[in-house]
Amino acid sequence: MTQIRDKLQIIGVEIKKNAQQYQRDLDDVALLAVSKLHSAEAIQAAYDAGQRAFGENYVQELVEKAQELSALNISWHFIGPLQSNKTKHIAEVASWVHTVDRFKIAQRLNDQRPEGLPPLSVCIQINISGEASKSGVSPNELEELASKITKLPRLRLRGLMVIPALSDSFESQRATFAEVSKIKDTLNQQSYTLDTLSMGMSGDMEAAIAEGATIVRIGTAIFGTRDA
Ligand SMILES: *Cc1c(COP(=O)(O)O)cnc(C)c1O
Repeated sequence: MTQIRDKLQIIGVEIKKNAQQYQRDLDDVALLAVSKLHSAEAIQAAYDAGQRAFGENYVQELVEKAQELSALNISWHFIGPLQSNKTKHIAEVASWVHTVDRFKIAQRLNDQRPEGLPPLSVCIQINISGEASKSGVSPNELEELASKITKLPRLRLRGLMVIPALSDSFESQRATFAEVSKIKDTLNQQSYTLDTLSMGMSGDMEAAIAEGATIVRIGTAIFGTRDA
């Protein structure tokens, strides 16, 4: 498993290089290791190399891994589509949910967050490319949802998350992320205190860092390809 350690190191160097290039503070760009469909052993290897934040897309899989690895000090981030009948598990094991796009989900997470745990950090997912197939709120629905979420005491609204349409043009990736960044700034000018932009994956990490990403979500480049 030294391979996972090596890959984490390579990504760390890449993040550092991008942060320097775009005058970002390295402490403001966190790596989320996306471990979906990879084994608990692979997560353990990344953990042993110092990684603490892991992202999962499927509720059942997250619950099982959190159980198996409960001795470790892992911060679990849920980054997949969330159905309302599955919110309880997530409220109990996750530290973060990146994909809130309906008030009903936020309300349930709030109500089901156990008393002994700190408030659950959440991001609102925005459908920035306007694709019909993607989840996320449209930018014009955002303010209403954000306003309702901030009233929920067991949630802490941290920021915005996007999965833009694939593009291999750096400039168009950057333009999309710049839009998201601007939306966050606009909200912060109206009394919000958002500190998070969850954006950037293996193919568009540099553009995301250039435009203010604070969490980049990287899977394949750390753990290898997933068997579908
Ligand atoms: C799978 C996934 C990632 C990681 O993607 P890779 O291509 O494996 O780096 C990031 N974000 C989300 C929302 C994902 O579902």
